[in-house]
Amino acid sequence: TYVITQPCVDVLDRSCIDECPVDCIYEGDRMLYIHPDECIDCGACEPVCPVEAIYYEDDVPEEWAGYTTANAEFFTAT
Ligand code: SF4
Repeated sequence: TYVITQPCVDVLDRSCIDECPVDCIYEGDRMLYIHPDECIDCGACEPVCPVEAIYYEDDVPEEWAGYTTANAEFFTAT
């Protein structure tokens, strides 16, 4: 799955939402989240993010690893 990280916080540009072929990007209070079970790893969202907030799960920078967990928790909490 792809993961949205820190740069999205309070930006919520939403360009990625228009690109996602399976509509698996959802809006939270301060950032967007990718549903880990619905994402088909197509990578379409990554290059269109103007703040480069999106990474493939294995490529998430270490300092933002918590966003991978937060992303998953956003969907288990709701
Ligand atoms: Fe949607 Fe593809 Fe991005 Fe996954 S990688 S969130 S399926 S655009």
